[in-house]
Amino acid sequence: MAILKLFEYPDKILTQKAEPVVKVDADLEAFLNDMLQTMYADRGVGLAAPQVGVLKRVIVIDPFQEEDENGVLKKGKPMFLVNPEIISHSEETIFFCEGCLSVPGQRAEVERFEKVTVRYLDEKGVQKQIEAEGYVSVVLQHEIDHLDGILYIDHLSRLKRNMLLKKLEKMRASQKAKE
Ligand SMILES: [Zn+2]
Repeated sequence: MAILKLFEYPDKILTQKAEPVVKVDADLEAFLNDMLQTMYADRGVGLAAPQVGVLKRVIVIDPFQEEDENGVLKKGKPMFLVNPEIISHSEETIFFCEGCLSVPGQRAEVERFEKVTVRYLDEKGVQKQIEAEGYVSVVLQHEIDHLDGILYIDHLSRLKRNMLLKKLEKMRASQKAKE
């Protein structure tokens, strides 16, 4: 397994639409495992292929990690989703504070559907379906958005988005100054 390079805002790859996977094979499974390892290394709960520079419709999530006594995250229930598709959703929405490995150090509240049903292929190519609500539903919507070139900050008002991007710039500038 390998840790992959993460692409961050404003890299153009994050705004592009990813292509459906045609063949689920051992190479794809190895890539999914690399994505998972990359996600754990950066303490994320989800990762989409465009975030590591690959325009394929695959995501990995693990919303149920727990910290051990040393503050190290333990593997929860990782899931690989190939060609995930939201086939239905609730009318009700929820607000959730989201962050993204491609927009480091920032968080903001985003409105999402409270429940979604997602159809996908697993890492063996078997078609599956998951009904998710609350937190898991939010994680799925956030990651599937990445496959369509959408970041969570694109759901914010222009004012909030600009404020967040200014903070990101400031954070990067002060990190550079420390180097
Ligand atoms: Zn993200």
